[in-house]
Amino acid sequence: MTLEEVFKRNLHHRSQRAGWLRAAVLGANDGLVSTASLMIGVVAAGKNGFLITAGIAGITAGAMSMAVGEYVSVRSQNDVEDTDRKLEMEHLAADPEGELLELQDIYISRGLTPELALEVAQSMHRKDPLAAHLRDELGQHPHTKARPVQAAVASAISFTIGGVIPFAGAFAPTIGAKAWSIVIFTFVGLILTGIVSARTAGAKALNTTLRVIIGGGLGMLITAGIGQIARASGI
Ligand SMILES: [Zn+2]
Repeated sequence: MTLEEVFKRNLHHRSQRAGWLRAAVLGANDGLVSTASLMIGVVAAGKNGFLITAGIAGITAGAMSMAVGEYVSVRSQNDVEDTDRKLEMEHLAADPEGELLELQDIYISRGLTPELALEVAQSMHRKDPLAAHLRDELGQHPHTKARPVQAAVASAISFTIGGVIPFAGAFAPTIGAKAWSIVIFTFVGLILTGIVSARTAGAKALNTTLRVIIGGGLGMLITAGIGQIARASGI
């Protein structure tokens, strides 16, 4: 493995891990905002008897929807990679010489002299041509391949963790305390996810946090408004 490859692999690995953390934070954010908005809407509509049921239903539905969405998106990404892999196998079987030159070109474009590039490509082709093409031509690395079930479970869990935070507010003693607890718990949760997501993105924590707080606050305001309209019209 060349130094450049070592560097590229590490970089890839780190960004992949940050990607996972980012996905978890986004899932938690979704859980926070959608559960809080739903519950605030129910409170505003004067349907407090349904608050806990609505919270459980909202968290379950959101977690399932996140899981299905994540599963489908990771599966289709893997399908694309599998198709590329099969195509590459066909190319290697049909035109090994052309593929060797293709690999040589890739190494030349990365800074090797044509002679050295050919030598490296030949030596790669002797060992495992498919692995070399998948890695250096298509950028596929077996250890960073996303697993659809794992991604689905992770996003369902992160949504649930986010959703449980405003849900806890439903257990406050009075209607007013329920509403305030939901709002305050949600803002605390949004501040936490804002800080974590700013850290992973290397962005300013204040800006990111303000953005999620404004977004979450808007969500709750809108459903509160809709709930009040429902209440006023006697639905
Ligand atoms: Zn190739």
